[in-house]
Amino acid sequence: MKIGFIGTGTMGQPMLANLLKKGHAVVAYDVVQAALEGAVKRGAARAGSAAEAARVSELVITMLPSSPHVEAAYLGAAGILEGIARGRLCVDMSTIDPAASRRVAEAARNRGVRFIDAPVSGGVPRAEDGTLAIMVGGDARDVEEARPVLACLGANIIHVGPVGSGEVAKICNNLIAGVAAVAVSEAFRIAEGFGVDPKILTDVVSKSSGNTWVMEHMHPVPGLVGKAPANRDYAPGFMTDLMAKDLGLAVSAARDLRVPVFVAPAAQQVLRLASSHGLGRKDFSVVYEFLKPSSSQAPV
Ligand code: NAD
Repeated sequence: MKIGFIGTGTMGQPMLANLLKKGHAVVAYDVVQAALEGAVKRGAARAGSAAEAARVSELVITMLPSSPHVEAAYLGAAGILEGIARGRLCVDMSTIDPAASRRVAEAARNRGVRFIDAPVSGGVPRAEDGTLAIMVGGDARDVEEARPVLACLGANIIHVGPVGSGEVAKICNNLIAGVAAVAVSEAFRIAEGFGVDPKILTDVVSKSSGNTWVMEHMHPVPGLVGKAPANRDYAPGFMTDLMAKDLGLAVSAARDLRVPVFVAPAAQQVLRLASSHGLGRKDFSVVYEFLKPSSSQAPV
């Protein structure tokens, strides 16, 4: 199949590489030249706009940072809906506001185009291995049509419900992961303060009730987990700013639903503050670096 791939950043590049590996042709577009070059180096053809990528493709995938980027890429000038033929299917794999997904789906429907949301979990390692978890929202027939392509990218493809539901599942998942990342960093700073070896604490936690995927795969302490971003000066991975965005999506959904939330806003503010201190484009596990103890002279 000829697939248009829009947004060829940290996740987009390894994902499109898997499509190419499985025999699909990919036409890529990104607003940043260096990101588009990365896709071309992996074997994708280059498009001059999202509209052009959509015009020449049988299916369109988008992997963009957040809601405004997705709305711009679909609805903006030289956007996907400008170029795409009626009847085609679009799969947005970005993590965005479920309401934005529904808005884009409706605009697509008005032009005779089908749209599903299919955000992912698993980060760069699973994007590279083609073993992402993919949570999908959309019409069942559209989901089944996309499934063989999604199977090139992920090991678990779960149809959650109508359009926007994939995003709901994703922001709930990232609420848990974002809070866990802050909790793991706090815990390891406390252990360190007591002089406990972080490797031994990792052994303990991994066999205990505090075990979490975030510690197993994105351990914030350098040198403990093979592929963790901490080992390469917290190069992402998953940027602090993106995790702050996802926690923000969960917090605003909770506000709209009148659900009380306490720990998600706290975790979001820690990440925001880390971003204010220049760590926004580092992997979110860098929050450990940020949560340094203050001076031992400080009164307690
Ligand atoms: P990224 O910023 O590295 O890549 C996004 C790319 O989209 C960039 O190259 C950017 O230039 C491009 N872009 C922005 N606006 C555009 C437009 N209008 N048209 C074309 N290209 C445009 O981000 P990422 O880490 O690849 O994440 C992408 C999405 O996946 C985000 O929603 C993120 O929350 C989600 N996600 C990321 C990870 C991860 O580990 N990085 C894991 C799961 C989900």
